[in-house]
Amino acid sequence: MEADTQAHVAFFLTGRRPGEHLDAIEGLNLRPALFAGYRELTQLRYDFPLLLVAGRADAQIVQSLSGLIDGALAAVATGGDAERMRKHVLRLEQEIRTLVAGGASGSFSELWAKAAGRLAKGADKSFEDSLRRARAAIKADGELADCDAALPARLLRHAWSAVQKQKAEAFRKDLDRQMLKLSDILKSDHERSEAGRSAKHLKAAVGTGFGDAFDFDAMSNMLNKALPKDALPESRRRRIRDLLAVFGAQQFFPAAGAPAKKGAAVKPYSFAFDSCSAALAAFRERMPKLVELARAIAIAELEIDGEYSEAKHDALFEQFGANGLDPQDFAPFPDYLVCVNAAKLLGEEQAQLMEILSSGLPIKVLLQLDDLLEESSVGEGSLTSGMRSRQIANMAMGLNEVYVLQSASSNLYHFRERMLHGLAYRGPALFSVYSGAKASGMPPYLMSAAAMESRAFPAFSYDPSAGANWASRFYLEANSQVELDWPIQGFAYEDEEHQRVSEDLAFTLVDFVAADRRYARHLARVPREKWNGSMIPVDEALTRERKGLPDKVPSVLMVDADNVLQKVIVDERLIREARRCREMWHSLQELGGVHNSHAEKLLARERKSWEERMQQQAETAATAAPATAQEAAVAPAAPAEATAVAEPEPERSPDEAYIDTPRCATCNECTNINDKMFVYNDDKQAYIADINAGTYAQLVEAAENCQVAIIHPGKPRNPNEPGLEELLKRAEPFL
Ligand code: SF4
Repeated sequence: MEADTQAHVAFFLTGRRPGEHLDAIEGLNLRPALFAGYRELTQLRYDFPLLLVAGRADAQIVQSLSGLIDGALAAVATGGDAERMRKHVLRLEQEIRTLVAGGASGSFSELWAKAAGRLAKGADKSFEDSLRRARAAIKADGELADCDAALPARLLRHAWSAVQKQKAEAFRKDLDRQMLKLSDILKSDHERSEAGRSAKHLKAAVGTGFGDAFDFDAMSNMLNKALPKDALPESRRRRIRDLLAVFGAQQFFPAAGAPAKKGAAVKPYSFAFDSCSAALAAFRERMPKLVELARAIAIAELEIDGEYSEAKHDALFEQFGANGLDPQDFAPFPDYLVCVNAAKLLGEEQAQLMEILSSGLPIKVLLQLDDLLEESSVGEGSLTSGMRSRQIANMAMGLNEVYVLQSASSNLYHFRERMLHGLAYRGPALFSVYSGAKASGMPPYLMSAAAMESRAFPAFSYDPSAGANWASRFYLEANSQVELDWPIQGFAYEDEEHQRVSEDLAFTLVDFVAADRRYARHLARVPREKWNGSMIPVDEALTRERKGLPDKVPSVLMVDADNVLQKVIVDERLIREARRCREMWHSLQELGGVHNSHAEKLLARERKSWEERMQQQAETAATAAPATAQEAAVAPAAPAEATAVAEPEPERSPDEAYIDTPRCATCNECTNINDKMFVYNDDKQAYIADINAGTYAQLVEAAENCQVAIIHPGKPRNPNEPGLEELLKRAEPFL
């Protein structure tokens, strides 16, 4: 036993596996024990596939297949044949799920018909009757989408198109009204003109049916005498014609009536892009046209109301948009959509993303991450580069004016309304989504759900328009058991004596990582005969501070292909990552008001002062003699209450490196990078203790990693530091 424990400890510290004590897990086909019930997803009822409902832009824009079927059954499966209907319709639901998981695509109606056709062979009439009645109860239709690599972009495009369609309809209605009114002004001007009162024009206006019934020459003479001849000033006529020309040539929305046909004279712009640089370039190129159209709309409104004054407005509109437009000027125009994969977000593209987010432009960005467990180049077992998307999302929140939504694919259905809010938000929005599509060996749904459950990729949203403080803007509650470090789930299994055993298991980052075959070398199976008390669960190991050699090693429960329970020990590198993941989760908890250190500190202070007051009152009551009026008169005045005087914010130069210390969330990111340069004060909040203790690259890296984007790197102190050009670009959003 001693030798076994020593082998376990050696593996924990070094990652080496002595063959006689430990087994490699490569090829054993192990999966985390809590995955045991999710081997065949098509047999389970869960949110996927999703129905991307056509023609909706509200909470019904996406529905789960199970939800639809439940709704239909609740409506029609009543009375004596309820159970029979339920059985038949659930069988069909499973068949649709199997078809979609197998790669079938199409609308809900098509896949329903296909699944029904497959099941109809050999089925009796009651089966057909059940399906017919259930189908009649489902009104929605649209494409079905599974939880796969394509889902994040597909879902976001679907929602974005619905929001843009609504916008286009409102814009078109307004523009058509303006065009009609402006045309009416020109028409009535023409009718007052000599040409408009000519016999020829009057005859043409009446039409051929009555051509002989009137004397148009006499009518023309009469009108010429009776009606005033004050025509529109030429400058106004020209202005209105120009406005109509601008409206007719605009490319921001399709022409009235229908989407532009192929070969139409004016082709509308496309607003969907697959790179930040392309979207930004298009935005800049179209900006003069957008200003021209916004200006024309403003002038048209004045013309229609007869309030345009050349003396007053000409000079004003000459300068229109010279200083850029306000967010409300952009509001009626289409929002841009960029769908970009984190794997392609390198160098210049990342800088462009930062520019979009910090510029306030109405550009919505989907940042899709397929591989959260990609190893960092800086060290084996380090997940740093896989965490880049999380850092970008955190940084975007620090900018204060960006709508940020982070979610695993598995949770997108539950975040559908938040997604719509982000798309309708006036400024930039970032949707950071982990698809689970690149982890080896597991279905994307399972990996994305596990990433969220294990705190590797928690879900949250930050809505700057929801209120003035974090409590109203930040939402973290979509994660399970949000107040705990790791969610606890019940797990039941059969032991060697075939007895049923139930226990509570924490699902940690290590369980998530253990599901990915690429990390097999950080794990070692302990043969059953060598199980001993030196193995403790990972969550327990994480609560221990190691001093000297450990006497216990962390382990996770896994199951093999036959669902036989296995114990697997973990090396120290993964434990370090789990600790880091937990710290990041703590920072999010703080932002979400869970275990908030400031609130807890305040509470402790208030409690202490309340206890002291109570104590004092008790002592006074116990010793007090009846106070005389004289005593009362000479009693010393109560000391004036100490008043906290807020320190004025120091004036900062953008060249100076500093941290907005009072906002520090104590996440350790900066201190992990350089604990000489970044140091905690007595309140456990970071400040720059020694600017010369590190490089500008470290300052920039810390700024990028900071959970709340409060590190301002300033300007480099060493002009010879390598890579300064690139570093300065990266530092820009934090200056
Ligand atoms: S200043 Fe440092 S410790 Fe504080 S939140 Fe930012 S990175 Fe974390």
